[in-house]
Amino acid sequence: MASAHGAFHTKIHHSKLNRKCLIIEENTLKKYKGFETSDHNELIISKKAAISAPDEVVLNGQDDSQIIEIFAKKMVVLETYIDTICGSKEHLPSLPIRLMEEGLKIEKIVDGGDQANRIDVVFMGDGYTADEQDQFFDDIRRLTDDMFNGDTFRSYLPLFNIWAVFVESSVSGIGYDGPNDTPFRLYREAGQLRAIYTANSQYARQVCQLMGPGGCDYPSLIANDDYYGGLGGEFVISTKSNRTGTVVLRHEMGHSFINVGDEYDNGPTYYGVNSAASLAGVENTWGHWLSGESVREERVIYRLLEYPWANLSLSEQSFSFSSDGQYSRWYLLLSVSAAGEEDSLEFILDGEILPWQSRGSDDREFYDWYRDEGLAAGNHTFSVRSKTPSTNVNIPRMICSVQLHEFGNEDEFHIGNDYISAYPVWDERRRVTYRPTNAGCLMRNMTNIQFCSVCKEGMWHQFLRRISLIDGISVSKVPNADSTKRVVLKTLKLGQLRESGNEVDNERLEVRWSHSGLEQTEFNDRFEIDAKIGYWSVSVQLITDEVRNDPNQLLQDIEHFTVLTFANRIKHENVEITCSKLFVINTQLVFSIISSTVSYLVILVQFELEIEKQ
Ligand SMILES: [Zn+2]
Ligand SMILES: [Zn+2]
Repeated sequence: MASAHGAFHTKIHHSKLNRKCLIIEENTLKKYKGFETSDHNELIISKKAAISAPDEVVLNGQDDSQIIEIFAKKMVVLETYIDTICGSKEHLPSLPIRLMEEGLKIEKIVDGGDQANRIDVVFMGDGYTADEQDQFFDDIRRLTDDMFNGDTFRSYLPLFNIWAVFVESSVSGIGYDGPNDTPFRLYREAGQLRAIYTANSQYARQVCQLMGPGGCDYPSLIANDDYYGGLGGEFVISTKSNRTGTVVLRHEMGHSFINVGDEYDNGPTYYGVNSAASLAGVENTWGHWLSGESVREERVIYRLLEYPWANLSLSEQSFSFSSDGQYSRWYLLLSVSAAGEEDSLEFILDGEILPWQSRGSDDREFYDWYRDEGLAAGNHTFSVRSKTPSTNVNIPRMICSVQLHEFGNEDEFHIGNDYISAYPVWDERRRVTYRPTNAGCLMRNMTNIQFCSVCKEGMWHQFLRRISLIDGISVSKVPNADSTKRVVLKTLKLGQLRESGNEVDNERLEVRWSHSGLEQTEFNDRFEIDAKIGYWSVSVQLITDEVRNDPNQLLQDIEHFTVLTFANRIKHENVEITCSKLFVINTQLVFSIISSTVSYLVILVQFELEIEKQ
């Protein structure tokens, strides 16, 4: 079992090439459940690319930087590690006060509680002028609503703080070919609805740190722009688009919140709880979620997997592929941009025009076709052509992605999104790994608003590694008439404590109180008790359908406390005073005798002792 422990935590931006480190954040966590051993030198290190993009996006320039988060029980262990990976290091400079006062406004959109024990997402707007300030806060409220009151992250809402930071821009909108004069200098390349980069990441780091210690867990930049686009990595970047702003946001946040790779085909790497290299791996990773009796590979084959990003105004696009005629159904999924006009495009499979109705938006839109019949053995052709000149001057009319799969019959391939099994995924080199569902996860199907059960479970684990179900315990100073004392337990607002509108079926917090190691069942599930004198502990366990397996007991937190009489409280404090006096005297002695290097070590030890006590 993982035991809760204080932790020193540091977040650094690290360049592999020149070993330069920028220390973005340093803090101490009162409680961290991610340690896996009892080794006091244990380090937990998590790394992610500073800029990450789906395979469809070709990144401009090479960036080998990583964001490395380090958790250690001892400061000296953490510092030693940093010295081994950093050739040089510097600390993130804080923002000059002057800049903070100039057109910068912070609002807490969701106030979940103390940021030391919450996941903090910070949305920073780019390309909003002073006149657009109200619109910015409305946009962030809408995006937050879509994600947290909508289905995607609804059950995790009580774990979050959501911040919105308005920074006045002199121009409205972001750059369409290189950055404009906006605070975070967000821009697209060649107007395409793909990646959006920031040319001012240092400023974004500094602004985010204004939320205070532990207040900038997940920084996000939101472009004042109506179309699809973004990136993941150090900053989740997306737009305010009504149609696709949250599509990008929830998918890229997903990568950060669960540390998983994609579930769609044609990617470079697959990793995390939603990926397995073999059927045995499926059994080990999500065997407890399988819908069938045992692991079985779902029968599916890809025929076409491409990201053409081709301009249809310039030429028609055709794709050839072949089938062996051995499958029972086919499914075609593609995405296009600047195709909001009716009859603007035509899709032809083997000479047959496929029925298509534009949704009326020029944003990147996904369209699909499904047939309950297999393709004939032999060669096939799929083509797309533009029938009218595009009227959108900002973005090109493009076919962005196209994929065609053939499925076995329903016994061989379960098409429903709730079915959990072993579904093959092909990477860019056509090697197979497995994912849990057909299209039941937004890590595969960007337009889905749900994660699969396997990802949801992974998210609970990742969040509850660094935040505790227990916010605190307070013991009344004044005793009751019977000499008991009122004890109040403050927890996250989960289960029976969820606020109205945020309820989740079958979820509850199980609370158990023990006095001198003996469970006091009369206090089961109580958040306030009158406790007699002595040594107490309280355990809080989250019971939820979304977690079936919790080997490291991350869904449980235990706190110990003491209820003292007035007399023995004084006594207790006296003992403490005596101890600390002795410690001071000892420290002074040591200081006077030994060299300054050694005293530095003493300070370190002292500091560590304090952390371990917490
Ligand atoms: Zn992705
Ligand atoms: Zn998933």
